[in-house]
Amino acid sequence: MSIISPNLYSQWRARNIGTHTLQETSDPPLLTERLLQLVWHYQRLLRDQLQTLDGQSLRVLHPGFWNHEAGPDFRDAIIQIGSAPAQRGDVEIDLRRGGWRSHGHEGNPSYQKVILHAVWDGEGKSSCVLPTLAFKPFLDAPLSELNGWLGRVPEELAASLKGQCCSPLADLPPSLFLEILDQAAEIRLQAKATQLQARARQIGWEQSLWEGMFGALGYKNNIWPMRRIAELLPALGSKPGEPESVFDLEAQLLGLSGLLPEELTRLRPSVDAYLRRVWDAWWRQRERYSDLILPRALWRLNGLRPANHPQRRLALAARWLSAGDLIVKLENWFLAPLDDNALLNSLLTALQVNADDFWSWHWTFRSAKMAKPQPLLGPQRATDLAVNVILPWFWMRAVAGKNEPLRQIAEHRYFSWPKAEDNSVLRLARQRLFGGKNIRSLKTAAAQQGLLQIVRDFCDHSNALCESCCFPEFVRKLKT
Ligand code: SF4
Repeated sequence: MSIISPNLYSQWRARNIGTHTLQETSDPPLLTERLLQLVWHYQRLLRDQLQTLDGQSLRVLHPGFWNHEAGPDFRDAIIQIGSAPAQRGDVEIDLRRGGWRSHGHEGNPSYQKVILHAVWDGEGKSSCVLPTLAFKPFLDAPLSELNGWLGRVPEELAASLKGQCCSPLADLPPSLFLEILDQAAEIRLQAKATQLQARARQIGWEQSLWEGMFGALGYKNNIWPMRRIAELLPALGSKPGEPESVFDLEAQLLGLSGLLPEELTRLRPSVDAYLRRVWDAWWRQRERYSDLILPRALWRLNGLRPANHPQRRLALAARWLSAGDLIVKLENWFLAPLDDNALLNSLLTALQVNADDFWSWHWTFRSAKMAKPQPLLGPQRATDLAVNVILPWFWMRAVAGKNEPLRQIAEHRYFSWPKAEDNSVLRLARQRLFGGKNIRSLKTAAAQQGLLQIVRDFCDHSNALCESCCFPEFVRKLKT
């Protein structure tokens, strides 16, 4: 016998979930962009009647993949407008037509591949020249009905975005799939290592490592500007007889980045005092480096977590450079006999810097003081550095030096590394390859790397319909 009311969950749910955002209303201001995204995602539209605002028929062959990060809302949709051939591109959803301009999509390079602007209704003016779909006349049910449905989407629909390899992969013994992932991960390790080696041929192993490390600190959005700053490192330096403090180095890196705020917050005295000090130090050096300063527009800061802000990453890098012993520390770490369970923490210890009066307490130059101090580097970024740069670098040096035992150490650590933070590419890959299920074999960073390699090798060369992708065939043949 049940000890709770049979309707407890649904009652609780009705009280607490969704009603504030998906409420039936004839009042358009209560509509949310999220609601329109859900409608598009699940295609709760009269799909055979769709028309753009200029009266052309619109067929949605694939709605694309929901992008939960900066940029257009849906990537890689396939649509057909009028009698034109089907086209592939992104879809942007805004509540109002004017959102195209007011949200800054116009002229934004991230929106260059948008082929359809979708909005609630056709009212208002728009500067957008793209075909536009208004949802309002084409909903396949009243909003009140959609409201309830969208909160409990059938699993089979959520899984309808799965790729053609999903079914053969489901039939594959897990051990076999794990082997494929390992093999794909090895290809990825070699590719990263070869890139570091190619750079090392021009500038030496140490500089090649710095460039890789800076790039990885740029996370996915700011790899190139961070690499550019690393490329400038050999040009930096103090004047003869002038000692270079960590503070001067930090001012140099931040000044070169173009990311030093020009305005004080005027709300946070401790931040403003520190910013003034950095500017004072940078002014003394600015002229020497004026032609190297990066344009601020090079950085992509929208939607960035404060912990990943390049200001903070550059402060960390300044401390590494100032200490001058990072590479020795990494070499000691690499040669030390370590239990697999200790890999991450031991690397984190080697990479960590001392607590800092400013950066341990503020994420960025705009942040309020934190309640508790935070380290300048966390385990997730240490994992990224290990898997994408440090271990490929050691692996390649061992291969180049024909040192088999060291190559094996690098490989063992790479394949034993605990899994990294989830990301949007992995989430999409799980949706397409496994119908959204969580896969037990993805429990190491190498397995995640293998999956990313499969995406790079197959999904990136196909489309949302998996046209011409030979991976399903490859998986089927594995079984025979
Ligand atoms: S493109 Fe290929 S690998 Fe990607 S989901 Fe489709 S069938 Fe699978």
